[in-house]
Amino acid sequence: MTDRYVLAIDQGTTSTRCIVFDRRATVVAVARAEHPQSYPQPGWVEHDAARIWRDVPKLISRALHDAGLTLDRIAAVGIANQRETVVLWDRATGKPVAPAIVWQDTRTASAVAALDSEFLRERTGLPAATYFSATKVGWLLENIPGLRSRASRGEILFGTMDSWLIWNLTGGLHVTDVTNASRTQLMNLSTLQWDPDLLALFGIPEAMLPDIRSSAETYGTALGGVPIAAAIGDQQAALFGQTCFEPGDAKCTYGTGGFLLLNTGTVPVRSGHGLITTVGYRIGSAPPVFALEGSIAIAGSLVQWMRDGLGLIGTPSEIETLAASVTDNGGCYIVPAFSGLFAPHWRSDARGVIVGLTSYITKGHLARAVLEATAWQTRDVVDAMNADSGLALTALDVDGGMTADNLLMQTVADVLDVPVSRPMVAETVSLGAAYAAGLAVGYWSDPRDLRGNRHRAASWSPRMSAEERAAGHATWRRAVAAAVFFSDGA
Ligand code: ADP
Repeated sequence: MTDRYVLAIDQGTTSTRCIVFDRRATVVAVARAEHPQSYPQPGWVEHDAARIWRDVPKLISRALHDAGLTLDRIAAVGIANQRETVVLWDRATGKPVAPAIVWQDTRTASAVAALDSEFLRERTGLPAATYFSATKVGWLLENIPGLRSRASRGEILFGTMDSWLIWNLTGGLHVTDVTNASRTQLMNLSTLQWDPDLLALFGIPEAMLPDIRSSAETYGTALGGVPIAAAIGDQQAALFGQTCFEPGDAKCTYGTGGFLLLNTGTVPVRSGHGLITTVGYRIGSAPPVFALEGSIAIAGSLVQWMRDGLGLIGTPSEIETLAASVTDNGGCYIVPAFSGLFAPHWRSDARGVIVGLTSYITKGHLARAVLEATAWQTRDVVDAMNADSGLALTALDVDGGMTADNLLMQTVADVLDVPVSRPMVAETVSLGAAYAAGLAVGYWSDPRDLRGNRHRAASWSPRMSAEERAAGHATWRRAVAAAVFFSDGA
């Protein structure tokens, strides 16, 4: 048999993965490398973009080696990536001019406070927040001497991680896809083009921007002739990988953050309840498909903080054992507003709080509160999604690294009061990138055929009583109010 395969690169917040898929969407090989997170000042989060790129060719070689394949067996490469993170590099040398500013970084909070959130929502689908790329690019142009004039002359290029990888893979192609562009806060959601008013508002020269392309088309070739045929933001990739192709289909991915996306079809739906309107995907020249999104900044990264910041666990999976050592949270709640609060609150100035402390609280209770924080934050975005759509969510499809945690998934089912299920291929971000690339080159012919590849691996039913749920929710809301009260300026 000389069947071919599709290779996906998932450039995530904590790691980069390279996965080889076969025609039935089976994972044939996985290579993964974690990269460091730098926190040089409170609220700052940076990545070394050069290091992230250096990992990619090594991961591709390792995945191919493990799969026993050579490059000529790869039909296409698809890229999914952490979104909003900003890389600025020198066109001539190919070197980043500064560390990448990661989506969780809040250094631009004061610039954001001066923005007109309603205008931005109307033009881009996104509220004013430190989360998006525009103020981060503005910060670099402002703080690195001479950079803005160099950028105006086209000597400095801006890209999100998809652009950065494609530029390096192809030897100089400067493109992005429409899902990534929709997160910069520089793209007009109606025209799907860079918006001159927004470029003027944020002081960003057009010469530094990539071309906006669809999520699935051959941008160019790399690695001796393999088509680079998809780029798609990681959360949109998960929506695609979960085969949420119909309006009303939704998924929630639990990785560094948590992201609930609802397919709303070919017309953008504006949120009245604090959700984001975003591009879901665009396949070739077909009309773009839009999504409503509830973004949670801190989910798995709170578990990482338990490990790296507090040293209470040695590995992320140990949190489940620690949490299971007690029967409840002992009255303790954690609101992880480390990067402010995202959906539906959008308070860049909020800061994290731990409430309900008494001498009774042990590290087991803290572990429980950590997991419950992700579940309650999901409840907040589901409530907003229900209010926006006028329909109640009846089940939730989940994926991502944190879904390995059974206690967490049970808690999500409990606080939402809906069944939760996880597919066999938990790597849905990579799968979505593979699907998009495979469709672009005709490896797969119709998105609908891909639904047959989807198999449920695990599910959780709600077990919590209505009284317990209501009481927990009321306390959570008071804890969120405390995080907002304890803002930077309070
Ligand atoms: P990303 O793609 O955003 O880098 P992943 O999907 O790889 O994230 O998920 C990694 C995150 O999941 C990390 O933040 C880690 O702390 C968390 N995580 C991994 N395993 C577990 C677990 N068993 N319980 C809770 N959290 C976990």
